[in-house]
Amino acid sequence: MNRNRIKELKKGSIKPDAKYVLYWMQQAQRVNFNHALEYAIQVANENYLPVLVYFGLSANYPEANRRHYQFMLEGLKEVFLILKKFNISYVLKFASPEKGILEFLDQAHSLIMDQGYLRHQRLWRDEVIEYANNNQKDLSIYCVDTDLIVPVEIASNKAEYGAYTLRPKIKKLVHDYRDFTRLSTLQNQHQVNMISDDNLLDINQTLDRLNLNQGDLPKVFYRGGYLEASKLLSLFLTQKVDHYLESSDPSTDYTSKLSMYLHFGQISSLEIYERMSLSLEQGQIDGLAYDAYIEQLIIRRELAFNYVYYQKGYDQFDMMTESWAYQTMQAHELDHKPYLYSLKQLELSQTHDPYFNAAMSEMYHTGFMHNYMRMYWAKKIIEWSPTFKKAYDTIKYLNNRYFIDGRDPNSYAGIAWCFGKHDRAWTERSIFGKLRYMNAKGLERKFDINSYVHRIDIMINSQYSIEKITKSLYDKTKEK
Ligand SMILES: Cc1cc2nc3c(=O)[nH]c(=O)nc-3n(C[C@H](O)[C@H](O)[C@H](O)COP(=O)(O)OP(=O)(O)OC[C@H]3O[C@@H](n4cnc5c(N)ncnc54)[C@H](O)[C@@H]3O)c2cc1C
Repeated sequence: MNRNRIKELKKGSIKPDAKYVLYWMQQAQRVNFNHALEYAIQVANENYLPVLVYFGLSANYPEANRRHYQFMLEGLKEVFLILKKFNISYVLKFASPEKGILEFLDQAHSLIMDQGYLRHQRLWRDEVIEYANNNQKDLSIYCVDTDLIVPVEIASNKAEYGAYTLRPKIKKLVHDYRDFTRLSTLQNQHQVNMISDDNLLDINQTLDRLNLNQGDLPKVFYRGGYLEASKLLSLFLTQKVDHYLESSDPSTDYTSKLSMYLHFGQISSLEIYERMSLSLEQGQIDGLAYDAYIEQLIIRRELAFNYVYYQKGYDQFDMMTESWAYQTMQAHELDHKPYLYSLKQLELSQTHDPYFNAAMSEMYHTGFMHNYMRMYWAKKIIEWSPTFKKAYDTIKYLNNRYFIDGRDPNSYAGIAWCFGKHDRAWTERSIFGKLRYMNAKGLERKFDINSYVHRIDIMINSQYSIEKITKSLYDKTKEK
């Protein structure tokens, strides 16, 4: 493992009575390609100690609802089963993560945390370090960046202007971070007996115990967990990737749909990169399609992480974009808008635009939306809202409520992009000013957009499973 992934945040003394090395799993909810878990095993082996994996499950996670919890718990259940197979102990607590962990510090030789990138994740980690320092807790604390290929602070020490400024930095470093082979074997497999608040064997029961207040959100459409992610990746590599250059067409289904698994850390982008690269080396996939996918998976994704890490107000209208964008928005704030829709009308797909309605339905019912339609959807909300700030708040609310991959660095960067961030100024026009504009005619000109509408209709109204729909769609596009 590249040692630059690891930051030492506190140094403990030699602690002969330590009972375990503690890994606080939060961002990286997986066993495979998890550098933080690997480092915990390495430290444990150096001291002949077992590892205890801790997970704090809070019913009040910012903006999370039953849809998100279900997907996450499906993945965690799998993680616990795999840890058990490897004789690694784990404990789950119904507690805010940064609070629930405190009771485990006294007996820990070291605490290993995975890197969090959003404000609250970083605050939680800071609070634990502060608590350990203020209360003279004798343990070492390390933070390991395992959810990016090039760790966020190594790739750049500032907010990057766009993909074109980050790309050369990442490209120079990426090969130094192809650094995971396999998880080491834990030598001391003695079980740490800590009582979990739940074993996740019955997820519905756990969800009921959490007592979430989530309104009438439709049931989640996709299944969480590493196995499902791995299956989708195999499907992508064997059947879709060679068509990736056509994947911006919403009527096709040539993207990987891995964003939700990446969001919960159920699969690592490094594993995806390695499996793609192996397929390329074996001549199984097209080089141009490979390059296009890597651009999204590494450059665009890591740009989003750079954005939330360095841009303080990444989730606040007044601070999330560039000054040229604020100037043009101010100049066009009072432009006449032929259509204005309320949040409810948007949410229930009750607009005059069938393409927006289809996209909103996809999001509402399935928890996912095609990338091109995410741009179109957000641009329409800008066009149909009384102010830019109102549009921003509406987009953020819907994005984070309905997308399984919502509340991600990609959410904030994707939304800010619609307001000019990481983009450029375009020809000035009414309502949008110099922000990039999208319209229904563009969709009709470029794509068979009605077949997207039809596909969403089938998805929502049919009894088919997602596998059957993906397969039938794939067969249909192959026939073209
Ligand atoms: C308004 C708006 C809102 C968005 N909200 C989210 C969100 O809440 N969560 C989220 O994960 N993504 C978001 N995106 C980015 C992008 O749309 C999704 O990541 C992508 O559609 C996920 O589908 P996929 O996994 O099939 O992508 P693929 O095309 O298979 O790409 C593979 C991976 O590359 C990354 N990627 C792809 N496109 C982008 C992109 N434009 N920017 C950054 N990374 C990218 C993702 O991690 C993705 O899983 C948003 C984009 C916009 C314009």
